[in-house]
Formats: sequence, structure tokens, C-alpha cells
Amino acid sequence: MSQEFSVFNPPKRTLMGPGPSDVSPAVLNALSKPTLGHLDPQFVSLMDDVKSLLQYAFKTKNTLTMPISAPGSAGMEACLANLVEPGDKVIVCQNGVFGGRMYQNVIRCGGEAVLVEDPWGEQTKLDKLASALKAHPDAKIVAFVHAETSTGVMNDAQALCQLAREHGCLTLVDAVTSLAGSELRVDEWGIDAIYSGSQKCLSCVPGLSPISFSEAAIEKIKGRKTPVQSWFLDMDLVMGYWGKGAQRAYHHTAPVNSIYALYESLRLVHQEGLENAWNRHQQNHIKLKEGLASIGLTLAVDEAYCLPQLNAVTIPEGVDDKVVRSALLNDFNLEIGAGLGQFAGKVWRIGLMGHTSNEDNVNYCINALKTVLERG
Ligand SMILES: *Cc1c(COP(=O)(O)O)cnc(C)c1O
Repeated sequence: MSQEFSVFNPPKRTLMGPGPSDVSPAVLNALSKPTLGHLDPQFVSLMDDVKSLLQYAFKTKNTLTMPISAPGSAGMEACLANLVEPGDKVIVCQNGVFGGRMYQNVIRCGGEAVLVEDPWGEQTKLDKLASALKAHPDAKIVAFVHAETSTGVMNDAQALCQLAREHGCLTLVDAVTSLAGSELRVDEWGIDAIYSGSQKCLSCVPGLSPISFSEAAIEKIKGRKTPVQSWFLDMDLVMGYWGKGAQRAYHHTAPVNSIYALYESLRLVHQEGLENAWNRHQQNHIKLKEGLASIGLTLAVDEAYCLPQLNAVTIPEGVDDKVVRSALLNDFNLEIGAGLGQFAGKVWRIGLMGHTSNEDNVNYCINALKTVLERG
């Protein structure tokens, strides 16, 4: 080839979109450490620490807690592919993009999906789930998204889980955006299967999906009559690698350096304290909201249930969505998110996730938005 390829030097952006969030220098530094063999005793011991730190972050004692070697979407697939057997009835609550993806996954697993739909920008209504549970007493699983990143809405995970369990259902929760950013208590709230992502409030590099399964979920998996269709995501097989201490068997090559990074990001969450991290996200959300108000912008979601880590901002009449986002990126090295689906062109999504959630970024974003909007 005659073409010359130069070294790639990414610009230094501030990532205030729906993920990835800014990765802290400590985490980037961890990535660059020497690669170990994925069965090296030192690496195996690091895997044990990652598991303990994930149990801390999820607030669970579940032994089946680990990162899947793929992004949040693979965590979603892992939970559904293992728990849903052909013919299983699954109630899926949808009030945004990600609930819709869960629904598609249930169908692909051969399950019978029952949708409980609520409008975008609103919470999943408890009475709607209650009616669905009454109408479908044979439902086995209730699945929902805790923090709906597409709309900026927080669903009431504790109440939804309680209701599902009163009807004998297992609970399956998307915590991709909530983990380490908002209150989340896996054991106390009775969550049976949960998945998250490395690149949102954990502020790690993209590409890993922490998951956790309760004893009841494992029992359902062990009782399957058909094997899990996906070889890679079959928990029985993955557990042979992540679960068996010194006798770990080869399943796939773990993304060794990414696990160093995940360890460092979890260590930072532990050092700060999970509750302190939740508080920090809330405090910076309030500051952002006040700053937005000072330049005439409002949130599209009711304060009672809006996410602190992902703020859906109403785009004012006559303002061009794309022009503003391009100006922020090109002139301020600042990324904010576009609206998805029904919200495309109607809202901006401003993320304050993990390492990104600090006062300097709030001020930077408000000043940049003010400058760009004043240009008209
Ligand atoms: C980002 C996100 C996902 C998908 O995660 P990827 O790492 O992009 O695959 C799933 N659910 C929610 C709620 C998300 O915000």
C-alpha cells in the first residue's frame, strides 16, 4: 500500500453525552500496564477483587457477579438469553428505547413478551404493571430499565420489583446508566438479574458489562430444558472461568487490560464511597438545572423522577439541534447527546456521569451553551 497512516491522536473532548463518559487519567493509566496471561495467578487474583468490588457497587452478595467481556447490550442479552426459555412469558415495561430492546430480545429468545407501555418522558406506572400481572398470572419474569437513558427518566425499581415478586415473578433490571450514579440496592430491592455498562457512571472504557444473578435466577437457569442458544453468553460456561477460583478453565480470553481499567474505576468508586458518589451526581444535577434555568433552558422530565446523570433538555423553539451540537463539539470540544427516537430533534441529552460529574464541567457546559445560543 502506498498510503501513509499516521499515529491516531484523538482530540481532548469533554464527554457530556449519554456515554461514554470521561475516563479518568488513573483508569487510562491502568490500561497501559503490561498485559498478563488471562490465567496468570496474579490476574486471577485481580478478577477476584473485581468481583468483590462489583458486589460492593451493586450492593449484593450474589456469587454470580462479574463483568461480561462485551458492552452493556451484551449484558442485556446475557440476562435474557439465560433466563428466558422458549415459551416463557415475560412482562417488559417500556418507556423509551432500551425497554424496546429488551422486548426484542425476549422475542428472539422464543419468549412470549407482554408489553407494559408508558409515554416517553414518563415513569412506568405501577398500576399498569399490576394489571398486566393480574391479566397474565403465568408470567415468569418482569423486565424493566432502571435509568432510561433515552428519555432521562428514573423508574421506581424498588416498587416495580416488589410488585413483580408479590406475583411470583423474577425481576430483570437494566442498570447500565444507574450503577454508581443513583441509589441501587440489588439484594434489598429483590433484583434477580441485573446488567450494567463500564462506560457510564463507572467512567471506565466502553466494552464491559457487569452482571449479577440471584440464587433464584441461577435456579431458573439450572432448570432449563433447552441449552442457552448463545454459547458465548451461556452462564454455566462463563462461570467455569469467572467462578472457580484456582481451577479456572479457559472459556474465552478475557480483555485483560480492560479488566485492569475496570478494577481501577471500581476502586475509585469504593474510595469515594458509593453513597457519596450518588450524592455527587445529585448535587451536580441540581447545579446543571440551575445553570440551564439561568440561560432560559428547562428539563423535559419532571424533577420527581428525572435522572441526575442524564439530563434531557428541551430544545427551544427555532433552535437548530445539530448546529448547536456541532458548534459545541468543534468550538468547545464538548460532546452532548442528541435525542433518540421520539425525542430526536426535541431534546439534548446532557450527561453528568461518573468522572464527568463535577462542578467545573457543569459551568463549562452552561457557558458554552450560552455562547452558542447567543450567536443565534
Ligand atoms: C448505554 C445503554 C445500554 C447499552 O449499552 P452499550 O454499552 O452501548 O451496549 C443499554 N441500556 C441503557 C439504559 C443504556 O443507557
